[in-house]
Amino acid sequence: MKLPDKEKEFLQWYTAVIEYANIVDKRSPVKGSNVIMPYGYSIWESIVAKLDGELKATGHKNAYFPLFIPEDYLEKEAEHFEGFIPEVAWVTRAGDRELDRKLALRPTSETIMYEMFRLWIRSHGDLPLKINQWCNIIRFDTKETKPLLRDREFLWSEGHTCHSTAKEAEEQVRESMELYEAVYRESCMSYLIVRRPKYDTFAGAIYSIAYDCPLPDGRTLQIGTTHNLGQGFSKAFNITFQDKDKKNKNVYQTCYGLSTRLIAAIVGMHGDEKGLIIPPYIAPIQIVIVPIYQKEQREEVIKASEKMLKKLLKAGLKVELDKREGYTPGWKFNEWEVRGVPIRLELGPRDIENDQVVLVRRDTGEKISVPMKDTAKKAEKILEEIHDFLQKRADKLLEDSISHPKDYKELVNIQKTKRGFSRVNWCGDEACAEKVKDDTGADVRGTREDKKEKPDGVCIICGTKAKEVVYIASAY
Ligand SMILES: [Zn+2]
Repeated sequence: MKLPDKEKEFLQWYTAVIEYANIVDKRSPVKGSNVIMPYGYSIWESIVAKLDGELKATGHKNAYFPLFIPEDYLEKEAEHFEGFIPEVAWVTRAGDRELDRKLALRPTSETIMYEMFRLWIRSHGDLPLKINQWCNIIRFDTKETKPLLRDREFLWSEGHTCHSTAKEAEEQVRESMELYEAVYRESCMSYLIVRRPKYDTFAGAIYSIAYDCPLPDGRTLQIGTTHNLGQGFSKAFNITFQDKDKKNKNVYQTCYGLSTRLIAAIVGMHGDEKGLIIPPYIAPIQIVIVPIYQKEQREEVIKASEKMLKKLLKAGLKVELDKREGYTPGWKFNEWEVRGVPIRLELGPRDIENDQVVLVRRDTGEKISVPMKDTAKKAEKILEEIHDFLQKRADKLLEDSISHPKDYKELVNIQKTKRGFSRVNWCGDEACAEKVKDDTGADVRGTREDKKEKPDGVCIICGTKAKEVVYIASAY
């Protein structure tokens, strides 16, 4: 098996690797809806476990709301309706009957949740309300679909909160960012945190913050968003509470989402010519034990391998013993490399004799002999090193992806060739953003949220006084 060149043909590489690594079965009979295979799903479960833990630790409660959203609910917040309508899939019939009320398949759950929040919230004592939902989302995007990068159906976590003051809602936005960053840190992601331009704000929100990470082909991928909704929805849905001063007031709201797209980012950011490299702390399997033996040694080697498995599991490591018969060790090495398991543990008769094992790092390929009794400790140390290695490499990818074009011609040239993020001065006018889009296909992604940047010149597109520093990129 030979993978296409990751740098030169990223999409071909990506498509091949998610297939060979058993992430997604691309033979799904429904365009844009994935069949996520057990190994791919176990990576999602690791992400879910981490984020779910963070959400619960900060007072979020999980709940579940209907997949179907009545049309009149969707219409209640006008901007929201306008924003989503081109992508909404509808149920209009049941059997041979036309439904009297058209039902949307949720493109996001604000409207159906907020109708219920209106009933749940009575007084300031009911606030803050912090609800999370794990579910699937349906968006019939007109763009070409690509597994996990751009789907019509995907899985996600959507957090929705209600607060008594604007200040608390603002603080909630910051909290949600910390939760997501905790997940991204475990995934060794590197990204820009940007505030989207006004015209690209989530439909119905005051402002939207997004995480954009660079991929090796120069395109960027949004891996999470968080929105300050202000009182727009709460007024449309009449979500009020009696405050301490006995007055009825509308709540302030936020919402945020993180989806299976993160798996695509992990694959794209960390993989190499041999396949995936799964970051150690979200890897469903951190160590795979591959026993090596001739026929007559099998019993002895398997016994030692099982003993090692028990020991490592006891140390809290995620380990699998590959004792499948009929496959050579070389074949197994290859398969676990494609799947990106961080450490391979080789154990043969010679190792038993020397009371040692061989640990092989997936990222560097380095082989390390370790005394059997020290294996767990050493493996923990190596996992930490792999994590640091992947993070450093991702940071470098981000750093290298940022260009500083000096004029419009250079911007166009960069965005038509190597792409990445171009840091430029912008006047804030949507017409200028449209011109870039027409000339290059790239968008104004927004201003940095994690650090203040002041423009020091004129808009790179029209030449009038710049209002902000923005990052331009082509997104998936
Ligand atoms: Zn301009």
